[in-house]
Amino acid sequence: MLDEAPTAFDALTWRNRFAALPAAFGTRLAPTPLSAPYLVAASAPSAALLGLDTAQLAGAASIAALAGSRVPRGAQPMAAVYSGHQFGIWAGQLGDGRAHLLGGVETAEGLIELQLKGAGKTPYSRMGDGRAVLRSSIREYLCSEAMHGLGIPTTRALSIAGSDQPVIRESVETAAVVLRMAPSFVRFGSFEHWTANNRFDELKILADYVIDAFYPAARDAKNPYQALLAAVTERTARLMAQWQAVGFCHGVMNTDNMSILGLTLDYGPFGFLDGFDANHICNHTDQQGRYSYARQPAVGRWNCYCLAEALMPLIDDVEGAEGALEPFKSVFSEAMDATVHAKLGLVDRLPADQALIDGMYALLQEARADFTLFFRRLADLDVESARPGQAVRDLFLERERFDAWAVDYRSRLAREAESAEARRVAMRAVNPRYVLRNHLAEEAIVRARQQDYAEIERLAQVLRTPYVDQPEFDHYADLPPTWASELEVSCSS
Ligand code: AMP
Ligand code: MG
Repeated sequence: MLDEAPTAFDALTWRNRFAALPAAFGTRLAPTPLSAPYLVAASAPSAALLGLDTAQLAGAASIAALAGSRVPRGAQPMAAVYSGHQFGIWAGQLGDGRAHLLGGVETAEGLIELQLKGAGKTPYSRMGDGRAVLRSSIREYLCSEAMHGLGIPTTRALSIAGSDQPVIRESVETAAVVLRMAPSFVRFGSFEHWTANNRFDELKILADYVIDAFYPAARDAKNPYQALLAAVTERTARLMAQWQAVGFCHGVMNTDNMSILGLTLDYGPFGFLDGFDANHICNHTDQQGRYSYARQPAVGRWNCYCLAEALMPLIDDVEGAEGALEPFKSVFSEAMDATVHAKLGLVDRLPADQALIDGMYALLQEARADFTLFFRRLADLDVESARPGQAVRDLFLERERFDAWAVDYRSRLAREAESAEARRVAMRAVNPRYVLRNHLAEEAIVRARQQDYAEIERLAQVLRTPYVDQPEFDHYADLPPTWASELEVSCSS
């Protein structure tokens, strides 16, 4: 292979710190080449993070690397082992069944690990084929970009490499590989794995690795492992508030999909709320609604308890662990309260606001009003008069129900010191105009299946600045078409 043209990644400074952990943490193995790969998408901002531009990714050698058909010089590919709770039930050993960690690359934002998703079987593939389909790869790529654009912690996506190689799901689809990036792909389940197997030496090695690399302040605490749990709990609580604030539903909040860094991780059957329904279930496979929109914060907390249990052999202090978990509720409530006030354009927080907020959710639920457009249009509400024809009001079939709530909202706004214009600007900065609605991803997927990849990048570009009005892309902010309600996303990916 050495006589081949270099890939764009060969010149990067690699430091494979996860691969430097003991051999038990995974299995070293190269990805399985994808036949005749081509570039489907490449993200300019993600490339820039690595000090690359997308033109460098478009050469044959680099595409081969993005597809798992070439291993960049300096990379040390491996699949990591982990376990986890799936849908509340202990699932035992899982692991990177279709992910290959290539290694870490030095960037301006610190060491970033590069991982290929869908590049073939590993010892952890169980019944799976180690592959991902184009459809789910486009969804992961777009949502990584969208969440980052929204300012929500997330793994990033650099590229999608496609191939005509068939992959069998409910029907025959084609294979694709996403290159994703994060400071770490360690999950809650990475810790659960060692505790469940009574491997406390490895548990400690992993915890020390995570503390030293990502939570250095915990090292100085009296009980560093308790401090680690406290810090992860806090980040997770904040992440839940950020998801709720934009109507993001993850779909599969199993402990193996929970990032130890509080990142949104593993995009599968996710969805953004269209019409508001607190009980919305985005994952068609989740028949009980365990991971419904309204339950996400409670599940996030439950998952932190699983992490606590995994860390117990190190923390060795039940009260200490409880103390580390305890703030979840208050951190989440505080973050949620702050964010809902900001979404409503309220700078002050008054005791009576809760009734206004409860009334708003009840109104949205009853009317199934569009969650994203409601807040975006609310910024333009005429504070002085309740004249008809206002855009936010038009989201409600029973306009008088909105009018009744708006009376309270208007009188509450009257107590704010800020000017109407300042409020409008502030509200637009926190209420996105564009989110990755299922039907938008679906349109990009349908076109990609016809070899038209331009829509992926166009949509990604809009989603990168979701708080900015982009008049030429107005249709991306439209209400979903009626066919959108027929779309089903499931764990099959
Ligand atoms: P997920 O629900 O996508 O987070 O995946 C749960 C587990 O199943 C992880 O260990 C994945 O690596 C594994 N997995 C999912 N899909 C596949 C596949 N097509 N081939 C191999 N392993 C898979
Ligand atoms: Mg997963």
